[in-house]
Amino acid sequence: MSKVWQVWSAAIAVPERLTPSAWAEKYRVLPRGQSPRPGRWRNEVSPYLRWLMDVCVAPGVVALVVMKAAQIGVSEAMRNVLGYIAHVAPEPCGLALPTLPKGRRIVMNRIIPMLVHTEPLKALLTATSRDVQAEEILLLNGWRLHLMWSGSASAMASDPMRLAVCDEVDKFEQWVGREADPVSLVAKRLRAYGDRGLLIEVSTPTTALGKINQDYDSASVKLAYYVPCPACGKWQRLVWPQVKWEKPGGDLTSKQLAAHVTRTGAVWYECIHCQARIRDDQKTAMVRAGQWRAEGGGQVTDAWGQQHDSAETVTAWPPGTRIGVQLSALYCLWERWATMVGEFLRAQGDMAKLYDFFTETLGVPWEQVIQKIPKTAFAAKVVRATLDEGIVPAWAARLLATVDTQHDHFVIVLRAWGPEMRSQRVWHGKVQSFKELDELLFKHPWRIDRESEHVMSPSLVGIDTGGTRLEGESESRTSEVYRWAMLRRAVVRPIKGAMRGRAGLFIWPGRGFVDVGRPRKLGQRRDQVSDQLRIWWIDTHHFADEMADLIAAGKDDPSQERWLLNKRQDDEYEKQLSAVHKVPTRKGLKVTELWTPIHPGSKIDYWDAEVYQIALAYMAQIHSLPPQAEFEKQRKAQRAGPTKKKATYTEV
Ligand SMILES: [Zn+2]
Repeated sequence: MSKVWQVWSAAIAVPERLTPSAWAEKYRVLPRGQSPRPGRWRNEVSPYLRWLMDVCVAPGVVALVVMKAAQIGVSEAMRNVLGYIAHVAPEPCGLALPTLPKGRRIVMNRIIPMLVHTEPLKALLTATSRDVQAEEILLLNGWRLHLMWSGSASAMASDPMRLAVCDEVDKFEQWVGREADPVSLVAKRLRAYGDRGLLIEVSTPTTALGKINQDYDSASVKLAYYVPCPACGKWQRLVWPQVKWEKPGGDLTSKQLAAHVTRTGAVWYECIHCQARIRDDQKTAMVRAGQWRAEGGGQVTDAWGQQHDSAETVTAWPPGTRIGVQLSALYCLWERWATMVGEFLRAQGDMAKLYDFFTETLGVPWEQVIQKIPKTAFAAKVVRATLDEGIVPAWAARLLATVDTQHDHFVIVLRAWGPEMRSQRVWHGKVQSFKELDELLFKHPWRIDRESEHVMSPSLVGIDTGGTRLEGESESRTSEVYRWAMLRRAVVRPIKGAMRGRAGLFIWPGRGFVDVGRPRKLGQRRDQVSDQLRIWWIDTHHFADEMADLIAAGKDDPSQERWLLNKRQDDEYEKQLSAVHKVPTRKGLKVTELWTPIHPGSKIDYWDAEVYQIALAYMAQIHSLPPQAEFEKQRKAQRAGPTKKKATYTEV
């Protein structure tokens, strides 16, 4: 047979009706050196992947979100689906990966070898389709695979596709500005195929706020892999708390315990129904008998409204079904439970390792909250408060104001500060205009408790100039703030929050100045022009940490309370102050702890303003005030002096 004829017959041959998993078993060979388990693809090696491949061609499904442990074969299974479509129903597909280099590596080490080592696909290959530099792979039967990476909008937005796999979406780069996120751009390209288009998202999770967990959470059907107990036969999904291990007597450290467990293998899975001890060597049979079922243990509904115990008996799903699945390494047949317990025990006390264990081994988002201030803490402070709103406590040394700038209003907190970083909220609220802002900050006489002849006004004002939170706003808002701050620069500090400190500093001046007014004269240096304004950066996380400590002080002994409220109970304020928690966040190889809104997008303007208060207190040298008794003595001497001042407040 001539080469041309071979190619021709391969291209026109009508492939038999196979499911993707059966196709994989029949044709897929994993090349040595490119797979940890080379050789023919066998579904019994990873039984949980069989249905996961087959559901990709089930009618009605428009999205499949797979939140999974690392290295359990899911990405390979999705490549099987691509190979199946290339052979059986050659409609255009897409593969999106986090970065260009990563994309090239996958194409070179996984995609091209798959095509070369799969008989019916090999026959369809041409010299150009082996080009790993190309942005698409084209086979002789017309099948096209678009290769995309998340760092480039242009690489994501063009031709229509029938099915797209977005692999490792939690590592996708998010674009700033108006651009939609990469996954939505891929989804747009599936629209031409309507209900036949399928978006597949696969990833090891990061935090609860990561893309994969958010999309898994919003799936219309959530499924888990259920297995029957070898003792009682009852169905259950495998969960980490049911994994138990022998704890020998004596005071073993977790590392010694890890060594003991790994050596003896004394680990078992306790059936959640009958408490039977299921051993590692019973796992294979149990997992092979497993089925995908509704996550909560209920039933799933098919396109005709019929109920099914197992998702695997559903042949057609209701139109527009978005399926979310979660898969941990507890099911993995080449990973022993004892190894996982060893890993878990060795990770104790090491946050980066624990993070890896939860996300990469259990395939669940890292949700360990390090710190959170409960809403009740604020309610308790209001109950203990002794002063009404608007009254400055007699012990106060200064009044400080912080302003969070929003596009059509300002959110303000006024706080009185005294020795030992003690502070009390005097006023909080919103104003609409710069004029009202001036009235409130500079004209209003803030009365001091029990000293009717004295009033106070803010000696320092920190105003947020906008930035990330004002994304999409016109530049003019920021300029307006600068102009306002410029005319009041004796007391006003424009500030910007930063994610981390710089060179060990928590507050540092911005590089250069902001031009507010006149252009420079010839030969004049920037810093010689008086119409320029210094901006101050502050390390938001550092001051958020300090605020949490100050809020917590005196929890058990109210006389030690350092961060106080007034008598005004305001649900909105309390809600915003408790809407932020501190969670570990991974960036590259580093795990850092960051204060993040508990629900993405929730309003935290008061939280911002209160964090700025702490930074401003340092700028106002509150931390270097003498102790309260000494401070009172000094103030008394000052007031008794010949230049007794009355009702001093700054006029602008
Ligand atoms: Zn049982």
